Amino acid sequence: MAPSLEEPTPASTAAYLAAPTKAAPNLVAPEPEHCPGPESEQAGKGDACAGCPNQSICASTPKGPDPDIPLITARLSGIRHKILVLSGKGGVGKSTFSTLLAHAFASNPDSSVGIMDTDICGPSIPKMMGVETETIHVSNAGWSPVWVTDNLGAMSVQFMLPNRDDAVIWRGPKKNGLIKQFLKDVEWGELDYLIVDTPPGTSDEHLSVNSLLKESGVDGAVLVTTPQEVSLLDVRKEIDFCRKAGIRILGLVENMSGFACPKCKHESQIFRATTGGGKRLAKKMGIPFLGAVPLDPRVGMACDFGESFVDSYPDSPASIAIKKVVRSVGQMVGEDPDNVLPENMVA
Ligand code: SF4
Repeated sequence: MAPSLEEPTPASTAAYLAAPTKAAPNLVAPEPEHCPGPESEQAGKGDACAGCPNQSICASTPKGPDPDIPLITARLSGIRHKILVLSGKGGVGKSTFSTLLAHAFASNPDSSVGIMDTDICGPSIPKMMGVETETIHVSNAGWSPVWVTDNLGAMSVQFMLPNRDDAVIWRGPKKNGLIKQFLKDVEWGELDYLIVDTPPGTSDEHLSVNSLLKESGVDGAVLVTTPQEVSLLDVRKEIDFCRKAGIRILGLVENMSGFACPKCKHESQIFRATTGGGKRLAKKMGIPFLGAVPLDPRVGMACDFGESFVDSYPDSPASIAIKKVVRSVGQMVGEDPDNVLPENMVA
């Protein structure tokens, strides 16, 4: 039975979420809006703490390295490559791109792939992977991911919600607790690639994933944009965030880059690149450009039906483009592109 947030029973599920492993201080008042987090190094000392009724409690809480980090590192030691998917802006098709990327990596039957949904407030990966109604299995070894195919597993907060229409209204520390639990308790086993889908922007979730995975080695981040300047504007911020947070940028992908007609294969520019698009931005910012993936209306349909677009429509320009991106990403993480996805599996 899937763990429920409403009825916590096993210690490793909802009860744990409410009380993450690092002993949380017993606050006398709710955390104010700009709280740095009662468990952070700045707790009780930061500017936001001035005048907070919890100040003396937070200031006296023991600080130091998170004791869960070695556990996370051990848990993820069987995963060869961990790849974050980031976007500066919502609406660029990041989750869709993450599922395409995971399916494309998994189209090589010799690779084992996982996809982890850290978008706690808007988890969409289970729907897109066609496993929305599945439940996760809990054993002594941890939580088992839901296997979409023999070599592709998925994990999302969606599996833990009693009702898929429930909103998750959580503040930073609780979100961070759940991400930590994902990383610590999910039994991924041996994987070649773990794709980590993140929410848009540069929020708590990104910082948590990065700080918790740093020890176990994140290969880097793939940034997703669309061609318009309004999207590129936010990608510049995301690039800055990665540089400040010490996350290696594997490269930039331009999604929705033109429309590929399913019949004649002709490409039209729906979102015109008024300022040169992703390719020019990548060059300007000194990061690799991994490729451009055109729009195909069947991508949205495949996601709605939880099917693999790259398997259903292997000849689509979008499928070919995403497979080329996979080869480029593989190369960026130090693999031979022909081992990641042989040339004859691309087109
Ligand atoms: S003292 Fe600082 S860290 Fe503690 S609850 Fe208040 S604002 Fe947050």
